[in-house]
Amino acid sequence: MKTVHHALVQNTPGVAIELQSLHFGTPGRGRKATLQAALHADEIPGLLVAHHLRALLAALEADGRILGEVVLVPVANPIGLTQRVLQGVEGRFELASGENFNRHYADLFDEVVQRVEGRLGADASKNVVLIRAALSEAAGAIPAHNALESLRRTLLGLSIDADIVLDLHCDSEGVLHLYTETSCWPQVEPLARLLGVDTALLADVSGDHPFDEACSTIWPRLAKHFGDATPIPSACVAVTVELRGEADVSHAFASRDAQALVDYLAWQGVIAGAPSELPPARCEATPLAGSIPVKAPHGGVVVYLHECGARVAAGDRLADLIEPMSGLVTPLLSPVDGVFYARETRRFVPAGASVLRVAGREALRQGKLLTS
Ligand SMILES: [Zn+2]
Repeated sequence: MKTVHHALVQNTPGVAIELQSLHFGTPGRGRKATLQAALHADEIPGLLVAHHLRALLAALEADGRILGEVVLVPVANPIGLTQRVLQGVEGRFELASGENFNRHYADLFDEVVQRVEGRLGADASKNVVLIRAALSEAAGAIPAHNALESLRRTLLGLSIDADIVLDLHCDSEGVLHLYTETSCWPQVEPLARLLGVDTALLADVSGDHPFDEACSTIWPRLAKHFGDATPIPSACVAVTVELRGEADVSHAFASRDAQALVDYLAWQGVIAGAPSELPPARCEATPLAGSIPVKAPHGGVVVYLHECGARVAAGDRLADLIEPMSGLVTPLLSPVDGVFYARETRRFVPAGASVLRVAGREALRQGKLLTS
């Protein structure tokens, strides 16, 4: 294992922050996978999964079983981890800018088109090599004037030339679920089965350039732009994996999840020893536009009546919202048939807050599909 230290641009003289990446296997030989944990810095389950992954990958490397290259970023957001406010950590938004750490990744489309124009041909695999080199160059040239911009540039640079990108997050409270681009689904379905996710949410574009889409969506766009004479496959499978809820931090979960991720890398040919068969699917994929939030019509105490993972029908009473001053009790009903897959940790919410989400089969929403 090789550790690489990436110094981020310093916001304040004398205050240095660095990102570390752990490299297993051999760069340039075989397929490449990058996994990163806690881009939203307060989503801790991924940090523990990364800890278990490090040991598994080191053992695999010692056995000569890493066929390609695996890059593990065990703490993807050291900026967020330093943002202590009173007794908590604000890990989702950068305090200086208010920006979500998992949004606003660079769109490298124009830069890559300029770099490969006139150089692509009829050989798809040669096109992939050319485009990956152009992507890495373009990512390295992204301007970075502060720590956040240099964090985004560095993370993108570690993943942009990978075959597989797994971004480990978690929800407030929830069951295992994942987000991916629609065209990636056939490649992601085995991951869903190995992890045992209860919800898989698909979108072509979910809005505001999250990390996974910055890595994967450029490939089908380039294919469309250059046309059939220069075949370009969707060469990057990128997934946001939601490792249950923020308090679901245990060795039992993390060791199981880390093994499932390693099994997936083996299924993808990055590691030797692919599983002979996959577990049965626990769910079918549904559109991200069919994931419907239920918002609080007024402030109050939330009392849940179902656990996450429940299969529910439209109209089922999922929670009560109680206004203690007036005694008002407002039932919060499921908006659709589907899986009640995530809910808010806080048990007192202000008016307008998203309290819970149900994944249904029908795409009922439009526009920006992710929560803020
Ligand atoms: Zn997250």
